[in-house]
Amino acid sequence: MKSFSVQATDGKARAGVLALNHGLVQTPIFMPVGTYGAVKGVTPQTLQAQIGAQIILGNTFHLWLRPGLEIIQKHQGLHRFVNWDKPMLTDSGGFQVWSLGDLRKISEEGVAFQSPVNGDKLFMAPEDSMRIQHVLNSDIAMAFDECTPYPATREQAAASMQLSMRWAARSRRAFDDLSAQPSYPPYALHPEAPMANALFGIVQGGMFEDLRTESLRALTQIGFEGYAIGGLSVGEPKDDMLRVLAHTAPQLPVDKPRYLMGVGTPEDLVDGVANGIDMFDCVMPSRNGRNGWLFTSQGDLKIRNARFKDDLLPIDPACGCPVCQPQAHGEDRPHFTRAYLHHLQRIDEMLGASLATIHNLSFYLNLMRQMRAAIQAGEFSSWRRDFAAKRASGV
Ligand SMILES: [Zn+2]
Repeated sequence: MKSFSVQATDGKARAGVLALNHGLVQTPIFMPVGTYGAVKGVTPQTLQAQIGAQIILGNTFHLWLRPGLEIIQKHQGLHRFVNWDKPMLTDSGGFQVWSLGDLRKISEEGVAFQSPVNGDKLFMAPEDSMRIQHVLNSDIAMAFDECTPYPATREQAAASMQLSMRWAARSRRAFDDLSAQPSYPPYALHPEAPMANALFGIVQGGMFEDLRTESLRALTQIGFEGYAIGGLSVGEPKDDMLRVLAHTAPQLPVDKPRYLMGVGTPEDLVDGVANGIDMFDCVMPSRNGRNGWLFTSQGDLKIRNARFKDDLLPIDPACGCPVCQPQAHGEDRPHFTRAYLHHLQRIDEMLGASLATIHNLSFYLNLMRQMRAAIQAGEFSSWRRDFAAKRASGV
């Protein structure tokens, strides 16, 4: 079978299946973020069986620094290290290195920086990023790039994008060389899997439409198994994000998966899908959840607020997650009340953070399943109107 097939379209929105070494992924999909190899406070079993996660994201940079490659190599890759046998995507480390600010220096060759852990002088080039991701053995590796800062002048955005395109070509060469060498024995290899891991290119170009077009042309000339849009949700106004998204996404190759990196709110995901995006990741559902910010079908809810002190409802009565579901058949009470979650948050109990993360990730994954069903039924526009109206109605 093909590694990616679009099964249904509705307007620009697509429903597809992505075949990776560790399993199939139904798109559109949201990928929970496991920065250090853990989605904070949630076991892989819960992620898979109760939240419905099909693919998770690991951070190359953080895992390289801690625990380091030697430990992960001993586990024959990241899947076994974190005990997750489904697909994984790793970022290139470029964004984290870039985020170090004054601690890093960018040159044609790569990025020199000081370790935020122990101050060691380190260097990361596209070839290093590919070597690390090869050891992690992620199903999808990302090309090493420079995230264009916001705001940036046209000259800055152009120079940054062109550097990223030269790095993309170097990433492709290094990835292909490494892929030719024997890797680990397969772990729960899917029978229809393509055998080789995938490498995605990243479109940059800041807020400039013509630079975005130039970038995606350069990437398609090199050729990747999928294409991502980077450099959005970096502090720009929402209108700029939507403008660049609407310009870039529909131009990406139709027969390859499209990934919008680091975005965003439930509404952003709907906008992304409406523009033809297949894959998303963001720390928002997990990070916000830990701070008591809960997403619901009727809008967002801050559980620490005093109004929830004696509220006996579940977080979201319309949510089917294990936190919101009734305890047992015939019993007229939810598993966890808003009042209980309010209490757990107020006393900083780790269970509160864990339950909030499970609910928020379930809300995000369920949102993707709803969109997929609406696209397959040819009802995406009406679904989108209903979703927006309900979300605006307020908890
Ligand atoms: Zn829930």
